[in-house]
Amino acid sequence: MRDQINELISDYVRQNDLGTIICRHCDDIIDTLPTNSVKTKYMVCEKEACRKQEGSASA
Ligand SMILES: [Zn+2]
Repeated sequence: MRDQINELISDYVRQNDLGTIICRHCDDIIDTLPTNSVKTKYMVCEKEACRKQEGSASA
């Protein structure tokens, strides 16, 4: 029963969180967004290495 519920929840998430926020340095998925179309946003994750790269890129 629990597996069925989990499956329903993941189906729901898959259908509704089409937007994905990806770290532009390490390609990790940072977060998902509930959008009505497939969207990918590039941001920087919390890893120190990525933040450093971001800092040196803009400096
Ligand atoms: Zn990263």
